[in-house]
Amino acid sequence: MHLSKMVSSGVASLAFALPMLGFAQASASNACSGSSCVSPRDLGWNTVVQKDVIIMGGGASGLYAALRLREMGKSVVVVEERENFGGHTSTYTVPGTGAPINFGVQVFGGDETAIRRFFGFYNIPLIQVQPSMAPQSNTRHVDFKTPTGLQTIKASKLLISAPPTLENMAPLLLDSREIPLFSSFKSQGYFVGMVNVTGFAPGDEFYNMAPGATYSLPQLPALYQISPTSVAGIYQVNYGAQEDYYPEMLVKADIIATVERVRRSVLGATVAQHLPPVKLLAFSSHTPFSLRVSAGEISSGFYTKLDGLQGYRSTWYTGAAFSGHHASHVWKFTEDIVNRRFA
Ligand SMILES: Cc1cc2nc3c(=O)[nH]c(=O)nc-3n(C[C@H](O)[C@H](O)[C@H](O)COP(=O)(O)OP(=O)(O)OC[C@H]3O[C@@H](n4cnc5c(N)ncnc54)[C@H](O)[C@@H]3O)c2cc1C
Repeated sequence: MHLSKMVSSGVASLAFALPMLGFAQASASNACSGSSCVSPRDLGWNTVVQKDVIIMGGGASGLYAALRLREMGKSVVVVEERENFGGHTSTYTVPGTGAPINFGVQVFGGDETAIRRFFGFYNIPLIQVQPSMAPQSNTRHVDFKTPTGLQTIKASKLLISAPPTLENMAPLLLDSREIPLFSSFKSQGYFVGMVNVTGFAPGDEFYNMAPGATYSLPQLPALYQISPTSVAGIYQVNYGAQEDYYPEMLVKADIIATVERVRRSVLGATVAQHLPPVKLLAFSSHTPFSLRVSAGEISSGFYTKLDGLQGYRSTWYTGAAFSGHHASHVWKFTEDIVNRRFA
């Protein structure tokens, strides 16, 4: 696997994105400000990498695009801001047994051709499961060994697969055609975690419902689901917030408080108070999630204008904001973009 990861923090990704755009679109070799110019080497970026395509984002769509482009004979580099590729995948390893429990992406459905194509890149066999019976022990992991540190990359094409929020796109120095589109997106907070809680009966699962509300949906922010895993005493929790800026510290505290409250109401306060406190074993933020615009903006041609940006300033787009939040749809869309625009 010759994919490369360049950046390991959000701040660094900002610093990286600026030279990325300069080299990809203007072939600039120096960054100048006022009367002084600095070369990438002056900034400590010692290696200059030349590729056909830069892909920003190493999640579902970015990795599919990278593997497909390599299959087509193109050289690619994937820039990912997190420590690991994989987007919304999250795995907790049970101490002692080493058993992996997935608490992010778990099951693939929808377009079977796209699913088989993606896993075929890795020679990973697939099995049919009922979602509630997904066997955790059959998880296979692909370990990406990636270089660290800052590098300068030259490429003639840029493929954005990260969520096109204004924050992610701003370093690319957007123009007056792009800013109104990317600033229209709204998104929400989506968090998942693993908790250790004793006292529930095997198989107990809890849904947060608000009787009387539309579709009985609870008011967010709130924990809305507690599900058992393959390991007794370990439960997956799902938490949602209307806004994408809801602080993780509050989410974590609310998860523990809510699970404690549910346990008290199931067992009674007298029994519950003698049990070990609920412990948050793992936590993962999937924010910003579900980029969307209003119905009015859609009827005013938002997505036609967004699609019109494909290829503008040597930049193309894929990912859930363009295709919807379903891995197989994301892969199908990416296959189409790569075939039509990068052949
Ligand atoms: C908790 C959870 C569980 C899910 N479970 C399933 C499931 O079981 N089955 C299913 O089909 N779908 C599932 N989905 C939906 C599915 O994961 C998404 O549809 C899919 O991952 C979208 O792919 P993407 O490439 O658009 O985004 P992602 O996979 O999120 O990839 C985007 C990548 O860009 C990176 N990035 C962001 N900003 C920057 C930046 N500035 N610079 C560089 N990199 C950046 C991110 O870190 C991420 O790795 C789930 C989603 C969530 C949140």
